[in-house]
Amino acid sequence: MEAREVLENHALKTTSCRHEVLGLLLSTPQALSQSEIEKSIDPDTDRVTVYRTLKTFLEKGLIHKVLDDSGATKYALCIDCGVNDHNHEHVHFKCNECGQTSCLDKVSIPVINLPPGYKITEKNILVHGICQNCG
Ligand SMILES: [Zn+2]
Ligand SMILES: [Zn+2]
Ligand SMILES: [Zn+2]
Repeated sequence: MEAREVLENHALKTTSCRHEVLGLLLSTPQALSQSEIEKSIDPDTDRVTVYRTLKTFLEKGLIHKVLDDSGATKYALCIDCGVNDHNHEHVHFKCNECGQTSCLDKVSIPVINLPPGYKITEKNILVHGICQNCG
C-alpha cells in the first residue's frame, strides 16, 4: 500500500510530513521511536509537526504505541484498525541483539484473569529474545 492511498482511506489530507512519516513506517518492519523517525525524514521538519502527525495517526487508527523497556515510546503500523476499532492484543518482541522491536501480529495476548475489583483497560506484552534476522 502507498502512503497517499492509506491517508485517503482514513480521510486524512496529505501533507508532506504525514506522507513522509507514513511512507517510512510502511517501509520499515520494526517499530520506530519519534527520534528514529526524525532522523529518517526531511531534517527541516520540526518536532512538533512530527509529534502532531503521530498523534493524528494514533487517533485515526493508522498506528499504535509499542512500549519499550528503553523508555522511548515506539510506533508501529496498524493492520486493519479504524477510529472505533483500535485493537492491539498482540505480543511485541524486542531483540537483545539488534534492539529492534516488532509486532507479532499473529501472536495474541493470553487471557489474563484479574482478582475481583480490577479492570483491564490495556494489555501490553513485551517479549525479549533473539529475532529472526539475528538468530
Ligand atoms: Zn490500531
Ligand atoms: Zn535482532
Ligand atoms: Zn504491534
